[in-house]
Amino acid sequence: MICANLEYIRSIIEKTAQKCGRDPQEIKLVAVSKRMPAAMITEAQQCGQILFGENYLQDAEAKIQQLPSSLRWHFIGHLQSNKAKMAAELFQMIETVDRLKIARALDRHAEAFMKKLDILIQINVGREPQKSGILPEDALELLQALQPLTNLRIRGLMTMPPYGREPEESRPFFQTLKKLSLELADKSLFYDNKTVELSMGMSGDFTVAIEEGATLVRVGTAIFGTRPQ
Ligand SMILES: *Cc1c(COP(=O)(O)O)cnc(C)c1O
Repeated sequence: MICANLEYIRSIIEKTAQKCGRDPQEIKLVAVSKRMPAAMITEAQQCGQILFGENYLQDAEAKIQQLPSSLRWHFIGHLQSNKAKMAAELFQMIETVDRLKIARALDRHAEAFMKKLDILIQINVGREPQKSGILPEDALELLQALQPLTNLRIRGLMTMPPYGREPEESRPFFQTLKKLSLELADKSLFYDNKTVELSMGMSGDFTVAIEEGATLVRVGTAIFGTRPQ
């Protein structure tokens, strides 16, 4: 089932990319395996999936340590400073950096682990008070403040738009993220300003996200099914 789902999602990614004149290769599928058992991740791996996303550090730690080291992991949950060490050790990318304090902690721990840590800045495009992420107008100041942290590589931006019933409802928020990324790249604030990553789109709206420039789509339910509570 997981294999069939993965193949289906990959085919939709390819079709959507081609339809809007993009190279399908520039869109990476992050299989969101939060709350899913390691056996299901292994099943996905057997169908060629190596990139996974996790939200809960404790849960992720157990799985990452028992699974092959060839897998790649993105942290996509809310990160607390006191967990920065574990996150810096276990993950190749932290997609949810939204404040200087957490970035400084990640930078320090990355240095201690002698690694360069890829990060994305999480933007609260929907301006929802209960959501993590910084407001679009605060991104410039944060990115400027992060420049001296040489163990972090600011690869791009990530967002989670307000929950909508229709995929189309996400489109304006994806457009906002793309526009913001262009403005920041114009000021050379990313590690590579020619290929800026945009992590946007989930099971319900990833095709819209691809149309609007996503390079990372985070898909959980459509691959693994409904999550256990
Ligand atoms: C759970 C989660 C996803 C995946 O959501 P699905 O609707 O299951 O595809 C993507 N991004 C984040 C940040 C998540 O927490």
